[in-house]
Amino acid sequence: MKKTLIIQAHAKINVGLWVKERRSDGYHEIASLMQMISLSDTVTIHEMKEEGIRIECNRPEVPLGPENLAHKSAKLLMERFQIAPSHVIHIEKNIPVSAGLGGGSTDAAAVMVGLARMYDRPVTVPQLMDIALSVGSDVPFVLHGGLALASGRGENLVFHEPPKPPFSVVVAVPNGVQVSTKWAYENYHPGDNARKGELFNQVLLAYRNREVANLRTLLFNDLESVTMHRHPEVGELKERLSASGEGVVLMSGSGPAVFGLFPDRRSAAKAASNLDSEKCRIYLEHTIKEPGK
Ligand code: ATP
Repeated sequence: MKKTLIIQAHAKINVGLWVKERRSDGYHEIASLMQMISLSDTVTIHEMKEEGIRIECNRPEVPLGPENLAHKSAKLLMERFQIAPSHVIHIEKNIPVSAGLGGGSTDAAAVMVGLARMYDRPVTVPQLMDIALSVGSDVPFVLHGGLALASGRGENLVFHEPPKPPFSVVVAVPNGVQVSTKWAYENYHPGDNARKGELFNQVLLAYRNREVANLRTLLFNDLESVTMHRHPEVGELKERLSASGEGVVLMSGSGPAVFGLFPDRRSAAKAASNLDSEKCRIYLEHTIKEPGK
């Protein structure tokens, strides 16, 4: 009988992002506190008769060919399993595309988890992590989920317990703005903004202890200035979401998604009510410990 599997593929936010120098391989060194959130795509994998990988998606802006990260990860993993792929991968996309929320990466990770379950082949965690990194810098993190301090180009991950109770998270994405991650990194010049790595230990502590006021002074995202310069809407969103004074608000990754961390759902909903729903998409979410939870 042909098999079918359904997996939730969760978005990530960069709670903080420090971009360091550009390496000789073209990637930038980074340090980032990464957190998985409840916002998710639903990825369904069906076995089909014909050989090959067919991607389907409800959003027209998502590529359906080999450039889709879910296609890439399926191909690489099935090669590792030495089984010819014959799958339809349906992506029900809820995570805004090119927004800094890791949507493509998390679909790729979900496909890896799904195929590993479907075929039950021996594959070690380092082998999975290698494939994940070759698909994209954020894939190793979303494969595991939860909370991690990431360094290198994102592959050195130290996992930590996420805050308890979880933060309520408002995600707001300005309509009509998409940012290419490559463009943002190319336009960032670390000289202006060198910072100390030790700051991240303070960030981690304040985050895990849910110290919102401390986080407001400690957190930064080095790519904010690049994206906000080109898209002032992002700065406006940040201001509106910060207006209630009860949370801490930043851009995620290369943007344009903005998120606010709030102590509870009431304060999150209050802050979200200051946003203009005609100008942006608004999501009321929370931080999660692992995919599916
Ligand atoms: P990150 O935060 O990891 O840099 P992002 O959230 O900014 O990523 P994505 O939504 O992952 O961006 O999309 C980036 C590009 O990847 C898009 O231009 C899209 O064409 C391409 N892409 C490939 N596969 C997917 C996928 N499964 N879902 C969404 N976009 C995809």
